[in-house]
Amino acid sequence: MDVVTRFAPSPTGMLHIGGARTALFNYLFAKHHNGKFLLRIEDTDRERSTPEATAAILEGMDWLGLKADEPPLMQFERAARHAEVAYEMIERGTAFRCYATQEELQARRDLGEEKRQAAKAEGISDETKAALLAEAHELLAPYRSPWRDGAPPPAPDASFTVRLRAPDGGERVLEDGVQGTIRIQASELDDLILLRADGTPTYMLAVVVDDHDMDVTHIIRGDDHLRNAFRQIPIYEAMGWTVPLMAHVPMIHGQDGAKLSKRHGALSTLAYREMGYLPEAMRAYLLRIGWSHGDQEIFTDEEAIAAFDISGINRAPGRLDLDKLGQVNSHFMRLADDDRLFGLLKPYWEAEGAIIGDAEPRLRAALPHMKDRGNTLPELAQSFAFLLAKRPLAMNKNARKALSGEGLDRLRGLRDELLRTPQWTAEQISATITSYCTAQDLSMGQIGQPLRAALTGGLPAPDIAPVLEWLGRDEALGRIDDQLAPETAQGA
Ligand code: GLU
Repeated sequence: MDVVTRFAPSPTGMLHIGGARTALFNYLFAKHHNGKFLLRIEDTDRERSTPEATAAILEGMDWLGLKADEPPLMQFERAARHAEVAYEMIERGTAFRCYATQEELQARRDLGEEKRQAAKAEGISDETKAALLAEAHELLAPYRSPWRDGAPPPAPDASFTVRLRAPDGGERVLEDGVQGTIRIQASELDDLILLRADGTPTYMLAVVVDDHDMDVTHIIRGDDHLRNAFRQIPIYEAMGWTVPLMAHVPMIHGQDGAKLSKRHGALSTLAYREMGYLPEAMRAYLLRIGWSHGDQEIFTDEEAIAAFDISGINRAPGRLDLDKLGQVNSHFMRLADDDRLFGLLKPYWEAEGAIIGDAEPRLRAALPHMKDRGNTLPELAQSFAFLLAKRPLAMNKNARKALSGEGLDRLRGLRDELLRTPQWTAEQISATITSYCTAQDLSMGQIGQPLRAALTGGLPAPDIAPVLEWLGRDEALGRIDDQLAPETAQGA
């Protein structure tokens, strides 16, 4: 069997991370089996669907790198095909024209509700109460139309809906790939509407027809669709179609175990891009919410494709943990290609007002050594601030202190030695500093503090010798000279 999976979002809002994870699971399952991963935009709800939401979903999928193997299918464009299937079902006797009007159905529900209320009244006999409840139960039960057995229309031109003839009795069983065996009573199913009175297809019909026509073999989706599965399967059966294997994945919960909401970080997928997470980190992280494979924590794309299976999906809801996401992101930032990372960090530097210009060589020299200094792109970008600082550097309080009195004198002595350093490499700079300390009988800290202060103004920075190398001879000595010159020695 050639595996075909799909992701079928409704373009009524953003692509939230629950949806992104569903898409990822379908993508990985298809790739694992050398199959196809398809995308269907379920825009049948004309009032709530918007082109902006469709565009945002496509952009989110694109950013996440979940490329579909065919152009997205727009569900509403297939309305005529959906209607055609409904009529074929009438031919087969598995669907029928139902002439009940909306008003009649509403009146029926209202009456049921009235009887239920009436049964609560005081002073009525147990028998009356039981009778009222039985009537209410009947009226409020899943609707079975009086036309399901082919009774003639009330008038020749009466308007109608097309309904599925629901399975008659007994038990309905779903062998779900995640949830296991689920059973419900057929009596819980109504004669489902397939075509509305205006001839438009319902969502339930559209999903089944599309999944069939797209040759979908496996449906992996949120468990909020579990009940829909019981309504959709009879449509497959009515058409004599093979039912795809279904796997209903538990929702993502927050850290506290409650249903995910904005408070927990239930944001759009693109919001994570704005927060500075890499798409490969997002994929690796989403994969591990509710799916596991041994005790491996972080998967590359290749590993994920090789390992992904439905049996690894947990039955318990996964939890969103932003700290964990940060760690995974840090891991992938460390692995990221230097040029790419530079391009990703640049907008954050520029947003801080930095003009990169001359600083570019320094930033590029430092980048391979500083990739672990943050969990997100803006955090990482921030750790380069000492390289972007403009001369003369603003000095914070500690830096000013380190550069007063003796500190300044030591720095002056070191400067002359540094001038003579033959090659401006961290190694030789480090040797210069060490020999100066030895000669002057100073500890590393006694020279390190004023040096660091002059070079960074007190901003966080890694080991000082590489910092000197990255800054380059001119900039490094310039920063030191700024502090040695009397007019700036007092600090900014
Ligand atoms: N359009 C549905 C949703 O966005 C998904 C339907 C399905 O996966 O079967 O929730």
